[in-house]
Amino acid sequence: MINFDVIVIGAGASGIMCAGQAALNGMQVLLLEKMRMPACKLRITGKGRCNITNIAEKAVFMQHIGPDNRFLHNAFGTFFSQELVEFFESIGVKTKREQGGRVFPQSNRAIELTEALVKWVRKTGVSLQCKTAVKDILIENEQAVGVITQDGRKIFAKSIVIATGGKSYPATGSTGDGYNFASKIGHTIALLHPLLVPLRSDENFIKSLSGLHLKNIAVNVFVENIKKHEAFGELEFNDFGIEGPIVLSLSRKCLHDIVAKKKMVFVLDFKPGLSELQLDNRLKRDIDTVGKTALYDLLRGLMMHQLIKVFVQRLGISQDKKCGQLTSAEREKILKLLKNFSISITGHGNYDRAIITGGGVSTKEIHPKTMESKLVQNLYFIGEVLDLDADTGGYNLQIAFSTGYLAGISLKK
Ligand SMILES: Cc1cc2nc3c(=O)[nH]c(=O)nc-3n(C[C@H](O)[C@H](O)[C@H](O)COP(=O)(O)OP(=O)(O)OC[C@H]3O[C@@H](n4cnc5c(N)ncnc54)[C@H](O)[C@@H]3O)c2cc1C
Repeated sequence: MINFDVIVIGAGASGIMCAGQAALNGMQVLLLEKMRMPACKLRITGKGRCNITNIAEKAVFMQHIGPDNRFLHNAFGTFFSQELVEFFESIGVKTKREQGGRVFPQSNRAIELTEALVKWVRKTGVSLQCKTAVKDILIENEQAVGVITQDGRKIFAKSIVIATGGKSYPATGSTGDGYNFASKIGHTIALLHPLLVPLRSDENFIKSLSGLHLKNIAVNVFVENIKKHEAFGELEFNDFGIEGPIVLSLSRKCLHDIVAKKKMVFVLDFKPGLSELQLDNRLKRDIDTVGKTALYDLLRGLMMHQLIKVFVQRLGISQDKKCGQLTSAEREKILKLLKNFSISITGHGNYDRAIITGGGVSTKEIHPKTMESKLVQNLYFIGEVLDLDADTGGYNLQIAFSTGYLAGISLKK
């Protein structure tokens, strides 16, 4: 007995978009969510502000996505950043653009955006059931025909969409169930790993810098003493290492080498806007001006207070030394450390702190024009459960919304 046209498992970004589009196409849609309320993860995205998408042009956008961004050609061709922004505006969420092409709700409130999205999906006629976890997918003659819920109910539908997300931030409901459903059916799951994560460091000063937030710094990453990556932006210290936008993005590039236990050093340039010569001239000028005061006072003009103690420890010069007594070799030492403050990296955060999950259902086994499984008819995969990942900057949510939209309009009646 068929109860619905479609069952969408997971009311996150991709599942809600898919369910709503299918309902607008005249389908009877059941959207099942295991948590008490829908879209728990969306509510905390972008540090509570939700970086919805990025307005970078498609070719540039694609460079931020791996491992197989060509898979998204159809999804982005159908519903890309401009369409997503227009969609949100149409449901009453005004947006704004920020540095780096990132798009946020004008209110800076992910919760407001989430509530508008949930209101919209209900209005399309979707039947949304929370506190309903799906335990298994029902398959007959290599076709998906329904689901079994945790409490043992069988619900039948013509199509099933798996939108269960990844494994990161499991407290939001994304605990990797979709990978289990997929592998049971015979899908290949590319190796799962936490991605866009804070990085660990054993440096003894890390704890004392916890909470320090640095803006406009440059980072060069050395692996086995060879420069491999660079980035510019914001970095934060936490109690076990470093995080913040540039660290999260670099973590995506560095993870392989970290797991392989290669020697990795992040070299911070606190004054990237100044060449060594310019910085040296500034130091000379400052030292002339504050000659009678201590090194500590000189450093106060160059860095945040919290950093000074660690900085002078590394310099090996007393913070009480009078600036006028600094030798040119000591000035050179200050200069070098301002431009090359090294932090050795020894590991990475786990799923609890990862923004996304790397790996997932192989895109080779999914039709890119519809998101339907190539192995099981009437079964669809969308969002983070797929083997797709991207940098921070709004790219991951766009993947979720675009794949959700494409599946929603492609479902067979
Ligand atoms: C802290 C944080 C901040 C982020 N900020 C941003 C950002 O600003 N911009 C950006 O682009 N990306 C951001 N991301 C990433 C982005 O949130 C995800 O990539 C995106 O939410 C994935 O959408 P999804 O629909 O695939 O999965 P999810 O949003 O994870 O939704 C999956 C849903 O399925 C439900 N579910 C799982 N299993 C079952 C089951 N068995 N039965 C029923 N329901 C089930 C879950 O409860 C969940 O509600 C952030 C992630 C985190 C953790």
